[in-house]
Amino acid sequence: MIEFAANPEDILQELAALRAADAPTHGGQVLSYVYDSGLEAVDKLAAAAMLAVQPLNGLDPTTFTSIAAMERDVLGFMRTLLGGDGDVVGTVTSGGTESCMLAVRTARENFKGTGTPRLLAPASVHAAFHKAAHYFGLALDLVPVGADGLADAAAMEAAMGPDTALVVVSAPSYPHAALDPVAAVAAAAQSRGIDCHVDACIGGLVLPFWPGLPSWDLSVPGVTSIAADLHKYGYAPKGISVLLTRGRDRQRSQYFAATSWPGYPVVNPTLLGSKSAAPLAAAWAITKLLGTAGFAGLAASCLRATTALLEAVGQIEGLAVVGNPTGPLFAVAADTSVPAGRRIDPHHWADRLKAHGFTAQLQPAFTQADGSTLPRTTHLTITPVTESRLAELIEAMNQAGDDVRGVPGIEPRQLLDAIEGPMAALLSDGSGALRDSETARLVLAGLGLAGGGLPEAMAPVLALVEALPRPVSEWLLTELLAALVEPAESP
Ligand SMILES: *Cc1c(COP(=O)(O)O)cnc(C)c1O
Repeated sequence: MIEFAANPEDILQELAALRAADAPTHGGQVLSYVYDSGLEAVDKLAAAAMLAVQPLNGLDPTTFTSIAAMERDVLGFMRTLLGGDGDVVGTVTSGGTESCMLAVRTARENFKGTGTPRLLAPASVHAAFHKAAHYFGLALDLVPVGADGLADAAAMEAAMGPDTALVVVSAPSYPHAALDPVAAVAAAAQSRGIDCHVDACIGGLVLPFWPGLPSWDLSVPGVTSIAADLHKYGYAPKGISVLLTRGRDRQRSQYFAATSWPGYPVVNPTLLGSKSAAPLAAAWAITKLLGTAGFAGLAASCLRATTALLEAVGQIEGLAVVGNPTGPLFAVAADTSVPAGRRIDPHHWADRLKAHGFTAQLQPAFTQADGSTLPRTTHLTITPVTESRLAELIEAMNQAGDDVRGVPGIEPRQLLDAIEGPMAALLSDGSGALRDSETARLVLAGLGLAGGGLPEAMAPVLALVEALPRPVSEWLLTELLAALVEPAESP
């Protein structure tokens, strides 16, 4: 007889209290991370499906055959949606990052050249590809994008070489929602025998329903793989994406199989071993519930809301939308065509938007390899629920603009200049000699960032990211996040 250490009711109450401190996941107040269909039936069905498969182990679809059946259905649905034919096969993964990483690893496995294989992508490509190159030992060639955030097909073609293992384009890119020139890049890659991956992690379940787009999916010759996240515009709980690959042999190199140990034969298409079937069951159920027409209807709602918001931003003096966003996401920057006194710094604006009830995502200014700089922006991801709250959101956007119009953005340089003494030396130190955890804590405390939880205003934090050498900001942010989950001191 086991004596429990606590009451289930008390534990759940404690969890509810913890959850109460979370940002709201529903209702459209958080304009990133969460994708709210606005349909209660979708969430209810997903929860029931997850419960139904709770004890399964996704490691072995021969023992738990429901997993293979659900994967076949989901992959079939996505293959049709993304223009694939019978030569296209796929895998369900744990999310966009895993799909990106597997696409890169597979290309590395198939790489026929000599020397270090190279991954070629526009600078706007998702950081998951930096992670993939880092994990799997590829050199990363980032080609500068235009001021509109679009990949430059000619520059990408010029950068293709015998060492290029994979070329990546986005449909659309996360930072600016730029729909890269997929056909031109894929054709150039194909003529050189290089694989071309389309990152449709965020666009894969909305762009098929977006009007007036050039082809960007598996129907484009030369596209050898594509990924789409069901835990974004598939409205499934986190933990599911699909990676579709043209050609069985190409895709088979994605698998890891091992019979060279005394345990059970291991055959893994993905990075994980034992894994939950819950996100798969939820996504499977949602695709059955919504069907293509349901996703089309939700995409249409996103389109109406996004169109209205783009128009609203256009009418806020001092702000400008970056480029021509394709899909239900966009970035706004300061409008440099109006006098400085009328401009709106997008980061101050985001901080004020939060005060008015909506959380948008701050993106730092970014200097590219050719020295050109993409301005700091604020990113908004629009989901179907937004349409029901448009008036409130537009009102908040206007008020936030009025709050900070003419207030200069924080100059990264000034921020660093205001820091003196040994701190300043640490922050500008490129050598990395003093980059240990203890020092990071002192620096973070000195910057007023050690207390845990998010600071009141994010603009100064992003300005710091812009100001610091990249290895320094990466070191400090690592400490900040690592410290968050350190267990409390034992008494
Ligand atoms: C979200 C996203 C990813 C990474 O996906 P995760 O699910 O967060 O791991 C990759 N590429 C793009 C374009 C994305 O939007």
